[in-house]
Amino acid sequence: MLAGTAADQVELSNLQRQILFNEQDIGRNKAVVIGERLRLLNTKVSLDIYQEFLSTNNADIIANYDVILDASDNYQTRFLLNHVCRSLAKPLISASIFQFEGQLSVFNYNQGPCYQCLYPAPPPDSLSPNCSLSGVLGVLPGVAGCLQAVEAIKIILGHDDILSGTLLSMNLLTMQFKHFDIIKQDCSLHPIINVEAKTNQCQSSFSDIAEITPVELAQELAANPEALQLLDVREPFERSICHIGGLHIPLSTFTDELVQCSLHQDKPVVVYCKSGVRSAKICQHLKNSGFKHVSNLSGGIIQWIKTVDNNLTFY
Ligand SMILES: [Zn+2]
Repeated sequence: MLAGTAADQVELSNLQRQILFNEQDIGRNKAVVIGERLRLLNTKVSLDIYQEFLSTNNADIIANYDVILDASDNYQTRFLLNHVCRSLAKPLISASIFQFEGQLSVFNYNQGPCYQCLYPAPPPDSLSPNCSLSGVLGVLPGVAGCLQAVEAIKIILGHDDILSGTLLSMNLLTMQFKHFDIIKQDCSLHPIINVEAKTNQCQSSFSDIAEITPVELAQELAANPEALQLLDVREPFERSICHIGGLHIPLSTFTDELVQCSLHQDKPVVVYCKSGVRSAKICQHLKNSGFKHVSNLSGGIIQWIKTVDNNLTFY
């Protein structure tokens, strides 16, 4: 089973770590491209490709499969997968990565510990980095994925030494591989993590932030570039790839002092980032700080490139 989404497309910035894609795949659906790669490897392999996010509405598809490998990068999917795999008694081969480090374990295997025995609840959103923001050594996902494949083969072959009840922690910088015991809890007592409600909550907390489309912004800038203050909150490496001008205060070094020195509270502010998520957080913060006219560039600079100026470098 390959799960993806209609909006989940290959980006240039994926290529250094997501090894099944190449430059010709940029802009194409990830699940479809992965299917093509695996068929090139073996024309007899049977694949079911789902071009949609895993959610409570479609998670029953997990019942069709014997072993589940989690290759996602977000807590919503991990907790949902764990909940469904535990309910269906399916082994879940989980891996996660961060910068130079990775973790690997097999959950729900023969009544062994589940993911929530190790992590009872997701961390706050502000402490939830993902690969594109925190960075990851390019080869690390491939290493972690190969180790997941090893566990899958062992489970299929009925091997005894499955990485169940044990967390493998690896640091590719020091090349230290360590094992930690995972204590089995009473899984029936785990709280149900309603991650979709949590996601909706996050979205609704930004619901009163005004949005401006790239086309509208381009028209306003063309009419009077001095009428608004443009703020780029992406990191310096992103700014060096492409930008549409404006003041640059990266989210990682964002302080109220910097804002007070640089922006006027009474003049309209338009904030942008890559996709519009980080900029929405800053919009909310500016609004709470007394800025009267704050707008978020919807879809970020990616949408700007698609609808206004495709000469900028896409990443
Ligand atoms: Zn558990």
